[in-house]
Amino acid sequence: MNYFNYVKGELFAEQVSVTELAERFGTPLFIYSHATLERHYKAFDEAFGEYPHRICYSVKANSNIALLQTLKRLGSGFDIVSIGEFERVIKAGGSPKDIIFSGLGKTTDELTQALEANISCFNLESENELYRLKSIADKLGKTATISLRINPDVDPKTHKHITTGKKGNKFGIDIDTAKRLYIAAKDMDNIDIAGVDYHIGSQICKLEPLTQAIDAAVNLILELRDLGINIRHLDVGGGLGIQYKDETPPHPAEYVNAIVERVKSHDIDLVLEPGRAIIGNAGLLVSKVEYLKRGESKNFAVIDAGMNDYIRPCLYEAWTDIDAVDSRIEADDFVCDVVGPICESSDIFAKDRAIKVAEGSYVALRSVGAYGFSMSSNYNTRPRPPEVLVNGDKVSLIRRRETYQDLLGPEYLLDEA
Ligand SMILES: *Cc1c(COP(=O)(O)O)cnc(C)c1O
Repeated sequence: MNYFNYVKGELFAEQVSVTELAERFGTPLFIYSHATLERHYKAFDEAFGEYPHRICYSVKANSNIALLQTLKRLGSGFDIVSIGEFERVIKAGGSPKDIIFSGLGKTTDELTQALEANISCFNLESENELYRLKSIADKLGKTATISLRINPDVDPKTHKHITTGKKGNKFGIDIDTAKRLYIAAKDMDNIDIAGVDYHIGSQICKLEPLTQAIDAAVNLILELRDLGINIRHLDVGGGLGIQYKDETPPHPAEYVNAIVERVKSHDIDLVLEPGRAIIGNAGLLVSKVEYLKRGESKNFAVIDAGMNDYIRPCLYEAWTDIDAVDSRIEADDFVCDVVGPICESSDIFAKDRAIKVAEGSYVALRSVGAYGFSMSSNYNTRPRPPEVLVNGDKVSLIRRRETYQDLLGPEYLLDEA
């Protein structure tokens, strides 16, 4: 369920007409629903009841500062993968104590800045990263709180490009090596061992790989405790899938119950890093149909959004629901490929769809809240779209459309450099 519904044939974002938003802000345009975002955050949070937990929203899924601010107000923490994302969280009103830092290529500068700011946990991904952080901590005379990202070697049964917790993926540390590193870290000055973490992939729609990973991590935590290494928390990463087409992912509450069930007798605090499951279904991309093009073997609807605005269909062959914003328009269903204007054959949002379109009419691409704007680019020198957040009947512009000055500003001609 979401808050983008038809009222008398016209698509609304909560209480606001999508056509009105498209006319007011122009297209392409990202529209987010506050109520959807809030409901999804609370679906995770409330499922824990009194069980000690922290939800650290994965900033890379959608990093708009007004959305981060909204999540902060709901009580969320943040999982970041760069110092750029750190800057966003701070600007949004978050504090370093709300932040855990993931990612396998953190630079010396990034580790230093995050340690100086006292973030709550470093999720480390290799032996060398542990030693690098230790030497920075020694130099600064500060204690770094750490977790090691293990690779539990489970197959999450999702697209190969978003599988991250199987042997051979670049992420995480195999369990035997992790055990050895925990033992080494136990006696290190300036290193405080807090947790174990993993993140096995994204858009996971089955409970089983998720529970396999929990079991592997709990076993490791119990073994480490036997060695006198007191692991306080388990961070199970993100990865819970959403419905794009006909997937039936577990409800957040079902997933949370499955985790709590497995850890509750062991006194382990929980951390979750959901991204897509919180913001994915909370966003629409509205686009105008520029041309209907009839070909010999195929028809095309050429829309004004491109793969630079929303790259998932082209990158992961991801299904995207596309609907006419106004279903009352005088047009027959047009069977076509829905394509963007970019000079690449992969700039396709949908194949062989029947939709009600006319030149100048609007279409809505559904469930683009996650890995939509945050993966967008300026390819073909296209300014990126504005973003608006709708809350009931209230509309807030949370990012303006880019200008050509924004795009050309950082560049120099040879004689200016
Ligand atoms: C991307 C990522 C997440 C979020 O994944 P979703 O599939 O969007 O929930 C969480 N943790 C880490 C370490 C990530 O890299």
